[in-house]
Amino acid sequence: MPHAAFRAFVDAHDDFLILSHIDPDGDAVGSSLGLAWALRPIGKRVTVANDSPLPASLRFLPGWEEIRLASELPEPFRAVFVLDCSSLDRVGRTGIAAIAPGAAIACVDHHAGTDGFGDPRLVNVSASATAELIVEILQASELPIGPEAAACLYAGIASDTGAFRFQNTTPHVLRLAARLVERGADPSRTARSLFGRKSPASLRVLGLALASLESRASGKVSVLTISRAMFDEAKAAPEDADGIVQYAQSVNGALIGVLIQETAPGEVRISFRSDGSVDVNDIAGRFGGGGHRNAAGARLRGELSVVRESVLQALEQAVHGGPPAPRG
Ligand code: 5GP
Ligand code: MN
Repeated sequence: MPHAAFRAFVDAHDDFLILSHIDPDGDAVGSSLGLAWALRPIGKRVTVANDSPLPASLRFLPGWEEIRLASELPEPFRAVFVLDCSSLDRVGRTGIAAIAPGAAIACVDHHAGTDGFGDPRLVNVSASATAELIVEILQASELPIGPEAAACLYAGIASDTGAFRFQNTTPHVLRLAARLVERGADPSRTARSLFGRKSPASLRVLGLALASLESRASGKVSVLTISRAMFDEAKAAPEDADGIVQYAQSVNGALIGVLIQETAPGEVRISFRSDGSVDVNDIAGRFGGGGHRNAAGARLRGELSVVRESVLQALEQAVHGGPPAPRG
């Protein structure tokens, strides 16, 4: 029973670091803070850190102020939870540096294509969110979930299920979510914070992105593109573009929605969303990324128009059932 190994891991150490992936989302941060809230009452010292600054949209989760930049930690940790990461390098360069050589690493994740790091490890690709797995671990470990932990873990689940709309919304996760609401999570406030409030910059960049809409493969692939110039015009940062990919996927007839962002000169971030008919984790994998069957991403180096064309060609082939594009 993998859950039991986590209680042993918790009992074996007193001072924990919790890391999650670069450009953290609601599940990465909600899982990290939820676990921290549950470990402190049993006397554990817990530091939550990330390679990237916390997006403004997540600055409502109880305890968000305590999240540190991994680069600012005084010394590396010997016991580390790595959450929502399919491989250790997803914690980013400064995250890696915060892990002492030979440290004990526990992995909890729900991505496809995990590389097997961590002991103990709990990886379940059927789980809607890493936060769902944290709830299961806490329950199996008989660690109580207080109101703050419940709020954070509920937010993690709400974030990765799109507020219980995506295909990963199972009866099991709805039951878990109900229990978290009984313990203090607030569904209305959480959904409003995660999805219902936008900064002016994010609305400006959304407007520019929507105007870029393009259809490929007879409408089966729907594409939004944000160049550096568009970010500059909107006075927006890449975090302001979170969630825009859903508009690409919302186009009638689209099997795949894709958002292509020039996050820095020569640096392109791709987000893929599928209606279930095409495995976008597989396509992201061809470009060095990963994720889930219906939601995946990748980061590539190269000129925006060149990267864009090679990604769109791979997508066209995938929806036409043609041979896969070469890896690389
Ligand atoms: P998003 O498009 O929201 O950035 O990411 C969608 C999903 O793909 C998330 O589960 C995210 O963790 C994963 N993902 C995004 N970018 C990458 C990447 O560069 N590498 C890997 N392995 N997964 C990614
Ligand atoms: Mn997740």
